Amino acid sequence: MKLYDYLIVGSGLFGATFAYFAHKQGKKCLVIDKRPHLGGNVYCENIEGINVHKYGAHIFHTSNKQVWDFVNSIVEFNRYTNSPVANYKGKLYNLPFNMNTFYQMWGVTTPEEAQTKIDEQKAEAVARMQADGVTEPRNLEEQAQVLIGKDIYEKLIKGYTEKQWGRRCTELPAFIIKRLPVRLVFDNNYFNDKYQGVPIGGYNKLIEGLLADIETKTGTDFFENRRYWENIADKIVFTGKIDEFYDYRYGKLNYRTVRFEQEIIDKPNYQGNAVVNYTERDIPYTRIIEHKHFEMFGQQVYDCPKTVISKEYSTEWEDGMESYYPVNDKTNTKLYSQYKELADNEMNVIFGGRLAEYKYYDMAPIIEKVLNIFYGK
Ligand code: FAD
Repeated sequence: MKLYDYLIVGSGLFGATFAYFAHKQGKKCLVIDKRPHLGGNVYCENIEGINVHKYGAHIFHTSNKQVWDFVNSIVEFNRYTNSPVANYKGKLYNLPFNMNTFYQMWGVTTPEEAQTKIDEQKAEAVARMQADGVTEPRNLEEQAQVLIGKDIYEKLIKGYTEKQWGRRCTELPAFIIKRLPVRLVFDNNYFNDKYQGVPIGGYNKLIEGLLADIETKTGTDFFENRRYWENIADKIVFTGKIDEFYDYRYGKLNYRTVRFEQEIIDKPNYQGNAVVNYTERDIPYTRIIEHKHFEMFGQQVYDCPKTVISKEYSTEWEDGMESYYPVNDKTNTKLYSQYKELADNEMNVIFGGRLAEYKYYDMAPIIEKVLNIFYGK
């Protein structure tokens, strides 16, 4: 008889939600995390009374009522609606591309005028390709222009994408951009989902609620005492890196990462919005996040005298850096499938979450996945 039913490696959203439901079913769980805090990437650090999203801005969004009701049963969510703004050479444009953007870009005021302008620009892009004897877009630059035209591409897509990928759009494959949705309505709400928001009091409240009755140990790396941890529980739920679990025997999976430069600013309101994208190439960061706007609205912004911003720099990943975005190219997909084959043969280990499945997951699908493990058919 082992000490625990489950050892859960990683206290991110996957591990914490798994522990919550397992505990509800009467299972004895221990959650360990190598970081000095719980919560994985949704962890917030409180600075000057502001919840700072330490591992990148997180906005919860879903159309799944069961998921939304579940997270709200742990902590109530606010009404934050993501409406990013783009700054191109000092001029501001609303995102996602909608009637506000088209008005700011061309001065058009009706959906018909906007559509005509977009169609004109798309036709010009096709004509430019045909003049070069090309029928299919050869790269991301051509693809984007065929989908949305030159003006929006050059001002709102080109520089941002080049900073994100660290390569010129002419060197990036066309398939990266499959669709560029446009809205012919005045609607700056970024997400199409039915529900969105941020936990009132921050994401730590969500994690604290999930792990309220569960034993946890932070600053504890599974690999530092692997033998011990492997024998402490009947089953392991592993949410760390799958390649590390197998001692990198086939090689290391690659990632892209983001570097954050954080500043405390001695004024209550720096940019008037949580998210501002910098879309010109010459500004080295991609976005500035002003954290207080996720949770403070109206007068609350001014009742808190300081503000905290993070500049985001998209960076090539190296060993030792935070592993944020999996690289879903041929080499890495093949490598992952080799590790997955080993994982599928494990009797007592459940691999889950973004690192163990080498997959980008938003938060809601992570919750959905765990709900399915416990209550799915
Ligand atoms: P994680 O949160 O990474 O948790 C894994 C945990 O395992 C970590 O705490 C880690 O320390 C621990 N661990 C790893 N190895 C070991 C070990 N050997 N021993 C002990 N512990 C270990 N989703 C949205 O829905 N909306 C957003 O706006 C959004 N923004 C994002 C922005 C960025 C920059 C990124 C990278 C992701 C964003 N996401 C967003 C996705 C969201 O972060 C993930 O869905 C979520 O964090 C996944 O949870 P997880 O438990 O799989 O992973």
